[in-house]
Amino acid sequence: MVKTIIDDLRSGHARYRKERLPDYQPLFKKLADRGQNPKALVIACSDSRVDPALMFDQEPGDLFIVRNVANVVPPYEPKPGYHGTSAALEFAVKGLEVSDIIVMGHAQCGGINALMSMADGEAPIGEFIGPWMSIAEPAVQLAQQDTDTSTNRSVRTEQAVVRLSLQNLKTFPWVTERIANGSLALHGFYFDISNGFVQWLNPEEDKFEDFA
Ligand SMILES: [Zn+2]
Repeated sequence: MVKTIIDDLRSGHARYRKERLPDYQPLFKKLADRGQNPKALVIACSDSRVDPALMFDQEPGDLFIVRNVANVVPPYEPKPGYHGTSAALEFAVKGLEVSDIIVMGHAQCGGINALMSMADGEAPIGEFIGPWMSIAEPAVQLAQQDTDTSTNRSVRTEQAVVRLSLQNLKTFPWVTERIANGSLALHGFYFDISNGFVQWLNPEEDKFEDFA
């Protein structure tokens, strides 16, 4: 019989219950009794290689994570629609009162690749990917202004989308309010899949640097 992903998940879950869950049970009990109280919201890409909890060595309950195509934060648009990312942002900021928001870009991003193709005049990809990625169009111009010659166009665009998402976060009035009163801070990060390292956007230099 052919082994399916569901078979893999079942055996993985059995391993987890036997080997790892005993260590986590007290934590889950505490989180269930007291509710969650994450300190940070992370906005990362859905890419299967990007795992914020793993790269920061954090436990369940530590990070409130939103993953979407290309870690894009749309601008504040209080009109009817299905604003999944904005809804998660609202809950993290107003409900959970996180102290920090992290936008995590990454290398080899398929969504950014689609964005660059569209910028080169190719037809939008898919029914939903093209319109979603069009939110990030200003990042293409931002990347062109990036003078860092040590990186290629893909990296510059991926990093520009992090900058754009940080800018868009500041269009939400309840985000800027909290930044102004010192209860909320924004941070940009970039994950290099080839070596597993994280870079952070140094706000003083406005440059991505090794985070270790
Ligand atoms: Zn991606």
